Amino acid sequence: MGPSDIVKTAITRREVMLATAGLSLIGSMAARPATAPDPAPTTAAAAPSGPFTLPPLPYADNGLDPVISATTLGFHHGKHHKAYVDNLNKAVSGTPYADLPLEKIISTTYGVADKVGIYNNAGQHWNHSFYWKSLRPQGGGEPPVALRHKIDESFGSLDALHKEWFAAATSQFGSGWAWLVQDGNKLAVIKTGNADSPLTRGQKPLLTIDVWEHAYYLDYQNRRADYVNAVLDKSINWNFAAENLAV
Ligand code: MN
Repeated sequence: MGPSDIVKTAITRREVMLATAGLSLIGSMAARPATAPDPAPTTAAAAPSGPFTLPPLPYADNGLDPVISATTLGFHHGKHHKAYVDNLNKAVSGTPYADLPLEKIISTTYGVADKVGIYNNAGQHWNHSFYWKSLRPQGGGEPPVALRHKIDESFGSLDALHKEWFAAATSQFGSGWAWLVQDGNKLAVIKTGNADSPLTRGQKPLLTIDVWEHAYYLDYQNRRADYVNAVLDKSINWNFAAENLAV
């Protein structure tokens, strides 16, 4: 909230109080209190800056261009991801969650009705931090050899993995994520809705693709399929998957 907002809010509050005072003059029978309930203080301290922080992108804003434009990355990282971090910090402020690692917050709030806000923002913070690392400039191409063997073993071929991942990403109804995971001794493709991730399913995430509209709409409008194919062909970071693969 900037200084001009505070001034506007102060004016609005004074107007409300004047209007309420006027109502009390019109009729003392009105079941309305003579003064408006005290609104939240307009000079509240700034949102807490921790315990969680927005990680910097591991490449320049234009590093994934033309697959993902600098405009999309700028909004996605600087506005969307930042909002999840800010909201998470606000939600955990003064609670025991403020002292927990992010993964622990996700696992302990999953499915808990009155912790949905914390869970969603924690999940989205984790998912986005993982997504930035799942992409790279000049990505795609041939996976490192150990990972490639694992892919062939689990899917039959790299092309078969591409087809299965594409199907998962394009068939996720509404917002969500499409993942390559390690499930026991095999690799698998899964999709999750909204802020969900493999972390609550006992699977190890290797890579993810964000299929929320904000991830591609400025560049591809409604063409999610074109975004997914471009990411898989040119931006997916196989090296990151190989690092994540438990040996
Ligand atoms: Mn996103």
